[in-house]
Amino acid sequence: MKIMKKKRVVIIGGGFAGVQCALDLARHPVDLDVILIDRDGYHTYHADFYKLITSGHGPLHIPREKFRLAFSTVALELAEIFEGKPNVELVRGDVVAVHPSANAVELADGERIAYDILVVATGSVTNFSVPGLRTRAFELKSPEDALTIRNAIDEVFARKAKHEKISIVIGGGGFSGCEAAGEIAVWLPKLAREHGQPAGNAEVTIVEGAPQLLMSAPAWFRKKTEARLLALGVRIIFSNFVVGVRDDAIDLKSGNAVLFDILIWTAGVRAHLLAEKITGAALAKGSCIVVDPYLRVGNFKNIFAVGDIAFCKGFGDKPLPMLAQTAISQGRYAAYAIHRLFHDRKTFPYHPYRPQFIIPLGGRYALAYARGFSLEGWLPWVLKRAVALRYFMSILPFGKALRVWLRGVRI
Ligand SMILES: Cc1cc2nc3c(=O)[nH]c(=O)nc-3n(C[C@H](O)[C@H](O)[C@H](O)COP(=O)(O)OP(=O)(O)OC[C@H]3O[C@@H](n4cnc5c(N)ncnc54)[C@H](O)[C@@H]3O)c2cc1C
Repeated sequence: MKIMKKKRVVIIGGGFAGVQCALDLARHPVDLDVILIDRDGYHTYHADFYKLITSGHGPLHIPREKFRLAFSTVALELAEIFEGKPNVELVRGDVVAVHPSANAVELADGERIAYDILVVATGSVTNFSVPGLRTRAFELKSPEDALTIRNAIDEVFARKAKHEKISIVIGGGGFSGCEAAGEIAVWLPKLAREHGQPAGNAEVTIVEGAPQLLMSAPAWFRKKTEARLLALGVRIIFSNFVVGVRDDAIDLKSGNAVLFDILIWTAGVRAHLLAEKITGAALAKGSCIVVDPYLRVGNFKNIFAVGDIAFCKGFGDKPLPMLAQTAISQGRYAAYAIHRLFHDRKTFPYHPYRPQFIIPLGGRYALAYARGFSLEGWLPWVLKRAVALRYFMSILPFGKALRVWLRGVRI
C-alpha cells in the first residue's frame, strides 16, 4: 500500500477566497494540514459596509466598543468559523514576503512558515494614484473606514453654519460608490434634522470617469441605477477623471473643479502589494497576478492565487471582476484542485462563475439581475438580505449564522 505524507497547505488571507478554500480543505484531515494566516483575525463581509456608513444615528462619536451596529454583519471572528476543524490552524500575522525557492512565507516579525502548497488570497487595496488623494480622501475597505466616514459626515453637519452648503463627493461610480451614494442620500435629511440644518443644504456627487455607472453590469441595471440615484438627488458627473486633489476641491480632467467637505474614494482598486513580492510571478492590469487555467501562479506548480489578487480571464477576453462571488468560486476551485493534484487525479481547469448582480440603493430599495431576470424595489432588497444569510450559513453552523444575520455582532 502506498503511504502518502500529509501535505501542509498555507493560505494567506481570511477573506472570501481564503475562508472558502480553508473550509473545503478542512474536509480532508487525513491528507492535508491547513494553516490560515490573516492580518486581522476576522473575516470581513464588505457587502454590508454601506449600512455602517449611516448606522447609529444620534450623538457624535458613539464609542466604537459600545456600538451595536444595525446590520453589523461586517466582521466575523475566524476562530468562530473554524471552530471544530482539527486540521485548520489559524495564525494572526502580516505576510510580507513569499520565498518560492524555499517554499516559505515570511511574516512581519521575521517568522517563516514553510508550505508544500501555498494559496495567496490577500485581496485588493485602494489605488491612491492621484496626487493629494491619500491625505484627503476616505477609503471604504474596512469596517473602520465605514465608521470613520460616518463620524466625519456627522462632524461636518455639527460644524457648519446653517447657511453653508455641505458637499459629499464620491470618486467612482462602481458598485460600492453607488451603494454608498444611495444610502447617504437617504440619510442626509434625517441627519440635517438632528443637527437643526435646513434640508437640502447637503449634496452627494458621484464623479465617474466612464460615460456610465457600473460599467461591468448589464444595460438595464446601469440605467435603473442612474435613474434611482438621480431621483434621490444625487448629482452625477460622467466621463471625467479626477486628476488632482486639493484641501477642499478635486480637479477634473475637463479643467473643472468640485468642492468637497467629505471625499470618499471608491474608484481605483489594485491587487494587494504582496503580488509584487512573489519573485517570478507575472503581473497584469492593476498589478494582479496572472494565473494559469488551474489558478496557479506562473511556473510554480504549488502556488495558487485566488480572489481579487488574481488576474483571471473570464468570458471573452475580459478579466473577471473583483467580486466576492468570484473569490468564493475560486477559493472553492483551489481546494478542489489541491486535493485532486495531491492524489494525481485528473483535474479540470477553473470554469469562471457568471456573476449575479444585486445593488441596494438607499433605504429598502434594491435592484437585482440574474440570468436575464430583473427585479427592482423592496423584493431585491429582501433578496440581498437572503443572500447574506445563505453566505453566513455556508461558513457558520446554522444557529450562529442566524444569530449573526438577525442581531449582528458587536465590534
Ligand atoms: C464596500 C465594498 C462592497 C462590496 N460589495 C460587494 C457585493 O455586494 N458583492 C460582491 O460580490 N462583492 C462585493 N465587493 C467586492 C468583494 O468584497 C471583494 O471582491 C472580495 O472581498 C475579494 O475577496 P478576497 O478573498 O480576494 O479578498 P478579501 O475578502 O479582501 O480578503 C483578503 C484578506 O486578506 C487579509 N490580508 C491582507 N493582507 C494580508 C497580509 N499581508 N497578511 C495576511 N493577511 C492579509 C485581509 O485581512 C483579508 O482578510 C465589495 C467590496 C467593497 C470594498
